[in-house]
Amino acid sequence: MERRVNAGRFEENEGRSLSQSPWPYTHGRFQNGMVGLANGGLTCCVNAVLQSFYLAPEFTSILQRWDQRREVVDWGNIPYGMCRLFDVMQASMSGVVSAEMFLQCLTLNHVKANKQHDAEELFLNIFNLLLDQLQNSDMAEEMKSLYEIKLEEFVNCQCGKVSVKDSSMWSLPLPLSGMGVHRSLKLEDSLKMFFRPQDLTMKNKCFCPDCGVKCPALQGVKLISVPKILNLQLNRFRAPSRRGDYVKKIYSSVTFSEMLNLNNLPISEKAQKCGIGQESWLYQLYAVLTHSGSSVFGHYTVYVKSFKDSQWYHLDDAQVRRVQWEDVTETFGSCDYLWGKTAYMLLYKRVEREEPPPADGH
Ligand SMILES: [Zn+2]
Repeated sequence: MERRVNAGRFEENEGRSLSQSPWPYTHGRFQNGMVGLANGGLTCCVNAVLQSFYLAPEFTSILQRWDQRREVVDWGNIPYGMCRLFDVMQASMSGVVSAEMFLQCLTLNHVKANKQHDAEELFLNIFNLLLDQLQNSDMAEEMKSLYEIKLEEFVNCQCGKVSVKDSSMWSLPLPLSGMGVHRSLKLEDSLKMFFRPQDLTMKNKCFCPDCGVKCPALQGVKLISVPKILNLQLNRFRAPSRRGDYVKKIYSSVTFSEMLNLNNLPISEKAQKCGIGQESWLYQLYAVLTHSGSSVFGHYTVYVKSFKDSQWYHLDDAQVRRVQWEDVTETFGSCDYLWGKTAYMLLYKRVEREEPPPADGH
C-alpha cells in the first residue's frame, strides 16, 4: 500500500497500514531472517549496519511498536523509513531487496548514502537520528538502554582528591595499538587496555580544585552498568601522527570468541554498593561487521548468527550464504593478508540467565 504525501505528511489510505502490520518477525514466513540488500552504489556500509539492526530481535521488537497513527512523519523520518524497509524485507520472496527508500531518508537527514562511510560513525549517526525522531519517549528510552554503556570517569590527583563524573557511550572504541603491529591481540586484552588508567603527566597534567594548580593525576573509567547489546569497535584506523600523513589501517590480528565475560572489568564503587556487577555479565556474539581494503577505499560486509536457527550467515550486500564459525574467525585479521576481511565492529548480546526452578517442597 502506498501513502500519499501531503505537505510533507502522510495521509492514511484505506488498506493495511504499517502500524497495523504485525511483522511476522519471529514466526511465519520469516524462515531464517536473512534477506540481502542490493548495493545501490557504495552502499555496502549502510547495508551492513542496517542488517545489524534488522537481525537483532531486541531492537526490532521495540521498533515494531512504532505507531504511525501517533506520529507526525515525513519522508525523512528515520523510524518510519526503517519500519518501511524492514516491512519490505519481511515480505520479500526473492531474498534481495533495495534499500533505496531508506537511503533517500538518510539523504534528507544530510547523511550521504552513496559514499564511503565508517561503519561505526554511520551506526552512531543512524542510531542518534532514530532516538531524536522517536516521538514516543518511552520507546526512545528503551531503545537507548538497549545499547547504553554507563561509565564512571575518574581523575585521581596525587594529593588524594578524586573527581568523578558519570558518562555513557553507545559503543566502546577498543585500542589495538601499543602491542606492536605484528602481534596478535585478544579481544579481552584490548578491553583491559581500554579500562587501564592513564598517567596524566607533563603537558597532560590536570587542574585539581584542591591544589589550585595543574597536577599529575591518574585518569580512567569504570563500568556502572552494561547493556543488552554490547557494541565493541576495534580501532583499526589510526589517525595521522603528523601533518601531511594519512589515516592508516591496522590489519593485525585480534582474536575473539563467541562468548565474552565482562565480569573481570573494573566496576565503579558506587555501582558495586548497589550490587551491580554481582550478576553474570556474560555475552554472546551475534554480529561481526567486517571491513576489507585500505583506509581510503574498502568494502563492508556482515556476519550474523541467526536467532532463528543459530547458524552463522555472511551477508555481502545482495549475497547471503550460510557459513561456519571458522569462516567468521578468518576475520581476525593478519598483516600478511592486507585485502582480506577484518572484523571492525563486534556486537554481543547479553545472555539472560533464567531463574532456576524452585526445588520440590519449597
Ligand atoms: Zn590535588
